[in-house]
Amino acid sequence: MSKALLSLSTDDFIAGVEATAAKFDTATYPQQNLPADDWALLVASGILLPVLPKEYGGRDSHIEMCRVVDAVSEQNLGLGVHVTVNMALALRPIAMWAGEEAKREMLPLFAGSDPMMAGMAATEPGCGSALSGMTTTFEETDGGYRIRGRKHWQALSYSAHWWLVVAKNEDQGRREYGYFLVKRSEGFRTVQRYEALGLKAVDYGVNEIDVIVPRHRRIKAESRNLSTMVEILLASRSMMAAMGCGFLRRISREAHTYADGRLIGRAPLSAIRFARYRIAAIDSSYTVVEALNHYLRTVLDLKADMTPAFPAVQAIKTVVTERMVSSANHYQQLTGGEGYRYGSPTNIAGQAFLDSRVFTIFDGNNDLLSQQLAEYCLARLEGRSLSDFLADWSLTAHAVRTLRPDLRFLDRELGQEHMVLAGRAIAYLFAISQVLKWAAETDANAGRVQTAIEFLKTDIVGVTTEFRLLATGILESDDEVPAQSNGVLSRSIPLQTRT
Ligand SMILES: Cc1cc2nc3c(=O)[nH]c(=O)nc-3n(C[C@H](O)[C@H](O)[C@H](O)COP(=O)(O)OP(=O)(O)OC[C@H]3O[C@@H](n4cnc5c(N)ncnc54)[C@H](O)[C@@H]3O)c2cc1C
Repeated sequence: MSKALLSLSTDDFIAGVEATAAKFDTATYPQQNLPADDWALLVASGILLPVLPKEYGGRDSHIEMCRVVDAVSEQNLGLGVHVTVNMALALRPIAMWAGEEAKREMLPLFAGSDPMMAGMAATEPGCGSALSGMTTTFEETDGGYRIRGRKHWQALSYSAHWWLVVAKNEDQGRREYGYFLVKRSEGFRTVQRYEALGLKAVDYGVNEIDVIVPRHRRIKAESRNLSTMVEILLASRSMMAAMGCGFLRRISREAHTYADGRLIGRAPLSAIRFARYRIAAIDSSYTVVEALNHYLRTVLDLKADMTPAFPAVQAIKTVVTERMVSSANHYQQLTGGEGYRYGSPTNIAGQAFLDSRVFTIFDGNNDLLSQQLAEYCLARLEGRSLSDFLADWSLTAHAVRTLRPDLRFLDRELGQEHMVLAGRAIAYLFAISQVLKWAAETDANAGRVQTAIEFLKTDIVGVTTEFRLLATGILESDDEVPAQSNGVLSRSIPLQTRT
């Protein structure tokens, strides 16, 4: 790795990454797993340096992590995922939590010019949303740990050289979780390839693990529960704001260009008022996500323990990814039959739809994250109603004070289905607060801000309507499996009272 990369200013460094990323434009780059030679080009531009501490050859920069992922995702969303997995899911937790010996062994390899890759293995065929059900185990052996099990859907399944593997031990009658650095060559085997619908730059599959790793490769982490796993996921979830921002900047730009250029009869598509409405929906999503990306850049810190940011990150992940999917849908509708082709010369709508679809599913499915956000708030009411709490809470108060929405529909006993919807409403209030804050801190266009807020207000009204729909009894039926009510709460919300 050229030492010159380490002395560049942030703007010059990002300009270099942007120039390299432009070679991977979704419109022209093949939809394929990224070949090692192409990853080498990106590595040579310094793409992994921001996550690495300076003592291991990195640039150690939160803002550069965000800007790299934003720039790459604008060119190619699959590549944005590739970089985020390396940076946020694998290298960041190692830089943050591993011991010196493990860091010395591994991190300098990623600061060099070799096209090294790292992934994180948590999900298993039998468990995704509820990771406590994992069956991959670890046990102490002479000088180290033996880890055995089967994982699946790992990004970079075939290609990553190093893995952060999560495993469980229940030998002594009590449950313990462990996080281990594993080299593929030590016994991490990919036994089946998955053909994903989109995000083709990344490879996926089923992975069998049977390894013995030395003691120093166990990461110092909370072992009694999955709070470290949650912390690790908070980093990649928050980076959805950077991925979404790059992606939506492009979708917004290209939807305008397409609608102006396509004639429907004698007039351009953009002259049709409902087509304009779809474009306004895309533009407003870009505005919302730009504001959330501003929050990621200026308030969050990927170089610190993310646990206190739990509620903000749950809101960011759910709102950003929902906006990505809905915008891709609007864009594809606008492009008509041309948007249903692979390799159309006029648009990337089909690929954008396939690439973005999984964002509401992976890294914690959005419904679960919304439920957890509602639970987080309910655990901090201290005698207040939920609507009163949201009027006081630092993450939502600005929106409630400015718009005075009627949130009394939330003040009732909440079943699991209500909890998911309540979490969405809370996330929209958070997003409104951040749009207002972003507008005050930047020279954001007032019209853009107002439109984005109108869309978010409508989303909250939508939740109110869904509460009414549920009250009609649509879920009541006596011939189904017993439904989980609010008695079964997710166990992954942080307990500390910081709000
Ligand atoms: C492209 C891709 C990349 C991935 N990358 C990685 C990776 O790098 N490493 C890794 O370890 N894993 C990875 N995963 C796995 C991913 O994180 C899981 O797929 C995800 O957590 C969901 O788990 P599951 O697929 O088992 O779905 P399930 O747990 O079976 O959930 C299915 C659905 O059930 C519903 N649901 C679940 N809980 C609730 C709830 N509380 N409320 C309402 N509805 C609910 C949701 O609709 C959810 O989508 C990846 C997956 C994909 C598709």
